[in-house]
Amino acid sequence: MKLLQDRIRKDGDVLSSHVLKVDSFLNHQVDPLLTMEIGKAFAERFAGEPITKVLTIEASGIQFAMATALALGVPFVYAKKKKAVTLTEDVYSVPVESFTRKETYQVSVSKKYLTADDTVLIVDDFLATGAALIGLVDIIGQAGAKLVGVGAVIEKSFQEGRGLLEQKGVRIESLARIESMSPEEIHFIEETAT
Ligand code: 5GP
Repeated sequence: MKLLQDRIRKDGDVLSSHVLKVDSFLNHQVDPLLTMEIGKAFAERFAGEPITKVLTIEASGIQFAMATALALGVPFVYAKKKKAVTLTEDVYSVPVESFTRKETYQVSVSKKYLTADDTVLIVDDFLATGAALIGLVDIIGQAGAKLVGVGAVIEKSFQEGRGLLEQKGVRIESLARIESMSPEEIHFIEETAT
């Protein structure tokens, strides 16, 4: 997605060879017009799939799930992160290690909002180690729902996430795929789509 690549080049801040800061437009301060375009792009890429729900994880996936769900005309659900391991409610849950914070969270979704009747598209801001998205794939499995694929706004292709998801047979659509990055330069894997 050219609009996104251009914005990452303009406003993204490469903190190290592995961490890209995009909090001026994507995940702290948020550009709503860009977010809506991102939602439309995911909806186009998964057009024709019988999606009933979009699933993401709090907090930075929420605006992209919202934009995608609006474009698809379906609800979205965000998985909640809790530090406590004691879960009293009726939830699907899985432990996930955070790439940025190096902590393990319990990620959960109420059984009320994901069932075996659902066909789900997962959306998130980053695909890095894949831990967060693999956790969501696990939750969809627990619900017995059908997964159509994963939409990542930014994929850091030099990390292992894509490979791990592909091993599970998951379709991945990333709107900006970063091959390598340094404070001087960001290299994207060019795709023909959008
Ligand atoms: P994972 O490693 O599980 O694929 O990524 C988990 C989460 O870490 C992402 O959803 C995202 O919020 C955060 N994350 C991973 N890599 C980066 C990065 O380079 N920059 C920022 N800002 N967040 C990241």
